[in-house]
Amino acid sequence: MISRIDLRGAAFPEGGIDRDLLPRADFDVEAALEAVRPICDDVRHRGSAAVLDFGERFDGVRPASLRVPEQAIGDALAGLDPAVRAALEESIRRARIVHHEQRRTDVTTQVVPGGTVTERWVPVERVGLYVPGGLAVYPSSVVMNVVPAQEAGVEGIAVASPAQKESGGLPHPTILAACALLGVTEVYAAGGAQAVAMFAYGTEDCRPVNLVTGPGNIYVAAAKRLLKGRIGIDAEAGPTEIAILADESAEPAFVAADLISQAEHDPLAAAVLVSTSAELADAVDKELDAQVAAAKHRERITAALTGRQSATVLVDTLEQGLAVVDAYAAEHLEIQTRDAAAVAARVRNAGAVFVGPHAPVSLGDYCAGSNHVLPTGGCACHSSGLSVQSFLRGIHVVDYSRAALAEVAGHVVTLATAEDLPAHGEAVSVRFAGGRA
Ligand code: NAD
Repeated sequence: MISRIDLRGAAFPEGGIDRDLLPRADFDVEAALEAVRPICDDVRHRGSAAVLDFGERFDGVRPASLRVPEQAIGDALAGLDPAVRAALEESIRRARIVHHEQRRTDVTTQVVPGGTVTERWVPVERVGLYVPGGLAVYPSSVVMNVVPAQEAGVEGIAVASPAQKESGGLPHPTILAACALLGVTEVYAAGGAQAVAMFAYGTEDCRPVNLVTGPGNIYVAAAKRLLKGRIGIDAEAGPTEIAILADESAEPAFVAADLISQAEHDPLAAAVLVSTSAELADAVDKELDAQVAAAKHRERITAALTGRQSATVLVDTLEQGLAVVDAYAAEHLEIQTRDAAAVAARVRNAGAVFVGPHAPVSLGDYCAGSNHVLPTGGCACHSSGLSVQSFLRGIHVVDYSRAALAEVAGHVVTLATAEDLPAHGEAVSVRFAGGRA
């Protein structure tokens, strides 16, 4: 079911291995840019009518209004299955514990007597949070977007999620109920690139936002990339990925179940096992056959596991395994080896790391307290998952007295002259010219 890449006996160069040797989805955001450009342009010019038109075309339903009535959000909570409500409340509670601790305090540094620099952390004023709703619906993504934004102190929080035919043109009721539980009342029945464009440009129904975050498919990722600059964006969080670094001590049934759990998201989802043990890989293959056959979404799971983005990679040593997972920079990385915590501590590139046999990615998807909006496509080597920090800006506040400026004035003038920007130097010198006190 899952292909094999045998790197045993291969050379592992000092500087890391060639990323092209590793499996990766055909997730060509650049190509999708061409598809989303006219969508974004149309939303810019025609506003809400264009958002509704594209929704009708791609989601097969035209909402009565783009803005979801508050009554519908309240009704969704009233109709929520009590068990789902309890689970969402626990998910929110745990996410809040973790994200609350991430809040930043302002730091003032006295550089010299009379000269200070303060880093003041200020929340983004207004954010647009995208919650996917195509192949699956993700009330958990409401929690993962909203909780860090709230903990950061963001005042304007708007959520968008695709209209669902079955819900009569509203987003999925569980998504609306999750918004209600979190106290979010500004919700739009919009998905894909048109939702991102709505947030970026604003329409008659939705004021523009400063920042758009949240996971989504290739069209969502492409629209975020296209509109970046006009809006801030988080890391691109596209089709999900799991990598598992496992040795012979791993339990094959657990490994297979975890690979399948992420393959279930999307035919483009990636599941990669990196192992020092061919015996474990064989046992996992057997488990995959049995477990996929019994899985509800076996078609898209099979598509994901047999796609070029998924593979088992065999290596000689854990050292090499770490080199592979670092080069891959997975969104989710599980360590199922002996002494897993020590191995995990050596990982350099991953969106999130799950340590040992009892921390499956599904735990992090819902209830670990960690955030599940994580960088994909190798972006984990330069970007982080969503956190309170994603919604804050650090403003440097510079406060110098006359004496403190005088102390360094000569150096400023010298550097300004060296850069051939004499007016810069003059702006300092003028303050001390003509015996000014
Ligand atoms: P989605 O809401 O991202 O996309 C659905 C929207 O795509 C539709 O509303 C439609 O407007 C648009 N669309 C569909 N076909 C189109 C076309 N041909 N042209 C232009 N627009 C089109 O939902 P989804 O499709 O289920 O994707 C969700 C993705 O989010 C999955 O890949 C999942 O793995 C990923 N995800 C990632 C994370 C993460 O943190 N990385 C977390 C949760 C989900």
